[in-house]
Amino acid sequence: MERDHQIAGWRDKVLFTPGPLTTSRTVKQAMLRDLGSRDYEFIDLVRDIRRRLLELGGVAESDHAAIIMQGSGTFGIEAVVSSTMPPAAKLLVIINGAYGRRIAKIASVLKIETVLLDYPEDSKPDLEEIADTLSADEGIAQVAVVHCETTTGLVNPIQEIGAVVERAGRRFFVDAMSSFGAIPLNLAECRIDYLVSSVNKCIEGVPGFSIALARKEALLSSEGYARSLSLDLLAQWKGLEANGQFRFTPPVHALMAFHQALIELEEEGGVEARAARYRDNHRALVAGMRAIGFQEYLRPEDQGYIITSFRYPSHPRFTFEEFYRLLNEKGYAIYPGKVSKADCFRIGSIGRIFQADVRDLLAAIRDTLDEMDIQMNS
Ligand SMILES: *Cc1c(COP(=O)(O)O)cnc(C)c1O
Repeated sequence: MERDHQIAGWRDKVLFTPGPLTTSRTVKQAMLRDLGSRDYEFIDLVRDIRRRLLELGGVAESDHAAIIMQGSGTFGIEAVVSSTMPPAAKLLVIINGAYGRRIAKIASVLKIETVLLDYPEDSKPDLEEIADTLSADEGIAQVAVVHCETTTGLVNPIQEIGAVVERAGRRFFVDAMSSFGAIPLNLAECRIDYLVSSVNKCIEGVPGFSIALARKEALLSSEGYARSLSLDLLAQWKGLEANGQFRFTPPVHALMAFHQALIELEEEGGVEARAARYRDNHRALVAGMRAIGFQEYLRPEDQGYIITSFRYPSHPRFTFEEFYRLLNEKGYAIYPGKVSKADCFRIGSIGRIFQADVRDLLAAIRDTLDEMDIQMNS
């Protein structure tokens, strides 16, 4: 596959971030047109996007719905939380990072009562404690968890959690923002009622909207629960089903790019092939960073292949700002850390990047450390 960002005239920085990410030239080119939001071609394109999304989730249109919601990923989460929680019901939020905490914050702004199971950012949740919490509190209607906690790169065991939630007879909501499209996942097997993901992460589209997959039975039972007009998940689905149109102006260009991105995901060999490419990127990254002398924040058994948190070197001359700036000047964007109890920065393995890009980044990191006169003890 081509490293499009190296083609003459397309020399953008390579994004080693959690998103927005480096996209293919053809994904960007798909936006170079005008198309009306009520055009038959656009309606067909949206229909095909929604069909492909269900396929990626391993489910069929007979019992699942694919909904497109304007706004970034967080808007999709807010749409699910604000439109599927019954009045006076509680939301159990399983937290082991900043994105889990964000779900709890959204609920609290909406004045939805939460029960929190808050775990350290380097640990997986305790399944028994989740089961006990559910059996002790009948008022909990829904359980929310993040799949890949982008704070650290830890991947939560959603299938095991889904089984616990199903045994307790509650709804299950998964924030699969940074995993969908790159970590194989089947909504039915994981007992997921609602899943939200991003279009500018592992599917390699451009920002502009979020996607929600819902089990129809759950979605249809949420009639009357919406606390927002524009973020009303059920109304948005009904609109798309009725005439294939959006209730309010859709991000037409981002949708055209996303359609192309879905075609390219299929051409690459689907989720399994993309997972393999990202896994190779991650392996090359970790091996190279360790050789330089960097240390990952997570234990290897908890670390996923999407994004990796590395600890700051203890060298007195290291500052992240300077490290970031020098790498940026060389054409590489990395990302600040989000871990609350340790100084870390993050490097993503996702987007249209390949092992050769990772090798180039590692060389740039070595040069940058030389410029900063930092010797690492490797
Ligand atoms: C990226 C991300 C989000 C949403 O971020 P937006 O900036 O709103 O797109 C939410 N949860 C997780 C786990 C993420 O990685």
